[in-house]
Parts: sequence; structure tokens; C-alpha cells
Amino acid sequence: MKGRFGIYGGQYVPETLMSPLAELESAWAEARADPDYVAEMERHRRDFIGRPTPLYFAERLSELHGNRIHLKREDLCHTGAHKVNNALGQALLAVRMGKRRVIAETGAGQHGVAVATLSARFGLDCTVYMGREDMRRQAVNVQRMGLLGAEVREVTAGTMTLKDATSEAIRDWVTNVRTTHYIIGSAVGPHPYPEMVRDLQRVIGDEARAQYLAAEGRLPEVVVACVGGGSNAIGIFTAFLGDEDVRLLGVEAGGSGIAGGRHAASLAAGRPGVLHGALSYLLQDADGQVLPTHSVSAGLDYPGVGPEHSFLRDAERAEYLPVEDADAVAALRLCTKLEGILPALEPAHALHVAGTLPGRVLVCLSGRGDKDLDNLAPD
Ligand SMILES: *Cc1c(COP(=O)(O)O)cnc(C)c1O
Repeated sequence: MKGRFGIYGGQYVPETLMSPLAELESAWAEARADPDYVAEMERHRRDFIGRPTPLYFAERLSELHGNRIHLKREDLCHTGAHKVNNALGQALLAVRMGKRRVIAETGAGQHGVAVATLSARFGLDCTVYMGREDMRRQAVNVQRMGLLGAEVREVTAGTMTLKDATSEAIRDWVTNVRTTHYIIGSAVGPHPYPEMVRDLQRVIGDEARAQYLAAEGRLPEVVVACVGGGSNAIGIFTAFLGDEDVRLLGVEAGGSGIAGGRHAASLAAGRPGVLHGALSYLLQDADGQVLPTHSVSAGLDYPGVGPEHSFLRDAERAEYLPVEDADAVAALRLCTKLEGILPALEPAHALHVAGTLPGRVLVCLSGRGDKDLDNLAPD
């Protein structure tokens, strides 16, 4: 069925959004088949984002763990995370669709910064929704968005984090859909967003697979990525889906432990439900109310997950496991000390798992950790 991954995905939206979603679907289909759109994206990927990003052999981490770890360096993308790959594709699409206003939700602020950056570059009017709690945790990114000319709207509903910011952004879109394109920040939301975001992020895996083959002469045994909404993970996994011998491992936020309920591990501890327009694994109580989440990393602090991950989990093509806050922080410190690379707290969850695996491991280093310094205890 269109827009489904097995039973997951779909378009669970108010009637007023059905025709805008159809318009978006056909605009995206036309754009990606248009050599001009593709060439323009290629040019900005190279000259503005700095692609291809390097594949890096983490020699000292590998020596310590007795395995062979490579990092795909999305932290070196302009603005410091993989989010900009998606923001670029969708900003170019907004321009093409004649929409001069874009809106976005943001958690850690990396998606907000990426959208504000592309808006500055293309002269678009930009509004970013962000929970009050995240504005507190990620003050530097709030300042960056201001400098870039975006308006940051504080969201005080619910837990004042990513879920609530997303709900506000959808509300804005419903009201202003004629003039406004909603640049969703992960592989979530109603069809066609999960597919479109995946296809804009698969550049990570396409590059990494070719780079890995060139460097090592064979494929990795395991590919590891952190999963918030799931865009960097699906971006790197997609290139390896057909390689049956390559294990795909998604790492969710285990917070302060699954048992205590303070976490954001939708695939480990949730069950299927509808959030933000799609059916997917969701952290919910017995009545179907969405549960509050917790993670040390704002970017993983989301009760849902992209529908394709739910499908890959049920199909047992990918495995998902939680990593707790303290282990992620320790992995961040270790990577910084041994490799001279300060990762964001989100991919630090994946780095912890990489340290426990034997053999050839490829990690998606989705972003850099400058934004997280205020959340680390001083050395
Ligand atoms: C936002 C973010 C994530 C989580 O989002 P996904 O859509 O799951 O990739 C992971 N890493 C970084 C650095 C982020 O900024």
C-alpha cells in the first residue's frame, strides 16, 4: 500500500492536510526526477555542506576495544550534524513549490539551525518551534537561529520537548499551508515525509558503503546508528539493506533505565500507535496516552519512531537496543580523549554499543558535541 512499511506509516491527519500532502508528494516526485533539481542539490551538497564527509578509521578506540571501528563523519557537515542533508533537499523543494515561508520543529536545535541556515541562504521566512525545556538545554543553538534570522517560538505545552514542538508545528502548517512548507526534521510524520527524508539522508549510507569498500576491500559486519526519529539511522541503513550479511543495529535512548520508565526507547518498550500522522511503535500508557520521555540527549528525546524502523524491527532485518545516559556520556568522553573527536550525545549512544562489538563496525557519527558541553559535568 502507498506510504506504508508493512502495516506502519500512512496518513493519519486532519482532512485539510490531505490535499497538501498529495501536492507535496507529486512535487517531490517531479523534483527528484528533474536533472536541474538534482544538479543543484549536488552543488550545494559539495560547496555548502562539504560532502562527501570522510570515513574515518578510529584507530585508538579500535585498539582499546579489540575490534575495528570506522566513523562516518556527519559531524563535519556544515552546521554540525546530518540534519542539514534533509533541510537542504526540502528547502530547495519549498523554493520550487513557490512557498516562501518554512516552519520546523526542533529538539536539540540541530534541525532548527539547519533549516534556519538554508532559509538564510535562500531568503526564506523561517519559524522554528522549540520546547522551553530544550531551549534551556540548548541555548547556543537558540542564539544561532536568532543570528540566522529565524523566529524561535517557545512551546510550553506537555513536557516542553520535541513531541510538543512537533505538534505545534503541525498546527501552524494546518493553518498556513497555502504559503508554508513544513520541513519535518526526521523520517517521521505522514506519508510522504518518511520516504522523502530517508531518500534525502541515504547519501550518508551510499557514500559510506563505497568508502568502506574502497578502504577495507569488503563490507562492515555491523552498522550502528542512534535512533531518535530515525533519520540518520535509516540514511545509513538503506544502503546496506540488500547486504544480508551486514547486521543493522539501531540504538535508542535508554535514559536512566527501561525499568524505571525514564527513557525514550520506543522500539524496545513501546507498542504500535498513532503519533504525528503515522502508525509506528510509540511509548503510550494503557489508555493510549503518549508517555513522557527522558534522555540526556535532546535529539533522542521523542516517544515515537519513524515507521520504517518499526517495519525493520518486526521483519527482524534490523535490531534495536537501548543505551543509558551514563554509558552515552562515558562513550562521548572516551571518543573525545582517544580520537580528538567530540561527538554529540546522540551518536555517543551508538559509540557505546560499538565498543561492545567484535569485528568490523561502522558507526554513523551523526553530529558534533559542542552543543552538549553545558550538559556534561566539568572534568
Ligand atoms: C537530531 C539528531 C539525532 C536524532 O535524529 P534522527 O532523526 O534519529 O537521526 C541524532 N544525532 C544528532 C547529532 C542529531 O542532531
